[in-house]
Amino acid sequence: MGRRIVRVPLNFDAPLNEVWAGYLMPEHLHGLRCTACNGSGYSRHAAHLHDLWYGNVPFRPEDNGSTPLTADTPAVRAFAERNVTRNSDFYGSGEAAIRQEARRLADLWNSQWAHHLNADDVAALIAAGRLTDLTHTWDRDSGWQPIQPPVTPTPEQVNEWSLSGFGHDGINASVAVKARCKRDGMNLLCPACNGEGNVWRGAQHKADHEAWERTEPPTGEGWQLWETVSEGSPISPVFAAADELASWMSDPERGRQWVPGDVAAKFVAEGWAPSLVGSGGDVVSGVEFVGFRDE
Ligand SMILES: [Zn+2]
Repeated sequence: MGRRIVRVPLNFDAPLNEVWAGYLMPEHLHGLRCTACNGSGYSRHAAHLHDLWYGNVPFRPEDNGSTPLTADTPAVRAFAERNVTRNSDFYGSGEAAIRQEARRLADLWNSQWAHHLNADDVAALIAAGRLTDLTHTWDRDSGWQPIQPPVTPTPEQVNEWSLSGFGHDGINASVAVKARCKRDGMNLLCPACNGEGNVWRGAQHKADHEAWERTEPPTGEGWQLWETVSEGSPISPVFAAADELASWMSDPERGRQWVPGDVAAKFVAEGWAPSLVGSGGDVVSGVEFVGFRDE
């Protein structure tokens, strides 16, 4: 929905509705996706641990010193009761429906390391300040404050908490994986790309990639409307005068992009107003205008 006015030469003829080439890094400067890690940047060991965390590969709670959940585990049972009560159209009702849902949840959660942390995993998360729900209190005046005296939640407490609506996020997964790699004496990062996810044809390729900068379109006497939803594309013809562009913007032919004439005129005027332009006098930087009705 962003629009800006760009002052370009009258003969500027970059293709409309295509991102200005100067804003796109040339293909040959992009890094090559590392095939050793498929671009993730993680070592095989770390990638496997991530898969264990999310249950994408077989995981057993016992292997991490945790006890499997069952349909009778209170937190599982409570979650199942909530699901069934809220969606009886889907689950049916009664004890059988609750048991079935509880078994489904237990099986799902037993397949994920995320719900079967051990004391080492918990220590890593606490050290990273990631379990404030359990180690801190919160109120409007003082925000998060450590519980005094400090508490160390047990793995059982953390694992039960992880079944609640909040639970772990992707950062927690990364923290646990990193700490586990360290304990295992294994690389966290892919050795082939050093964790970048990209590899380079050579030092020059990487240097050229890092040295690349956006190039602004040439400046000139013309007036053109650009969209800023993408990196930036010209979307109108180049006009010799501001009011011509305003007329074009308020022409009924613009359809959904149509704006009233006074709005268009104001936008064109303010879109390059010197008082709104960067200190370098760079008229191209323009002004974001978000009053348009399109998405
Ligand atoms: Zn790699």
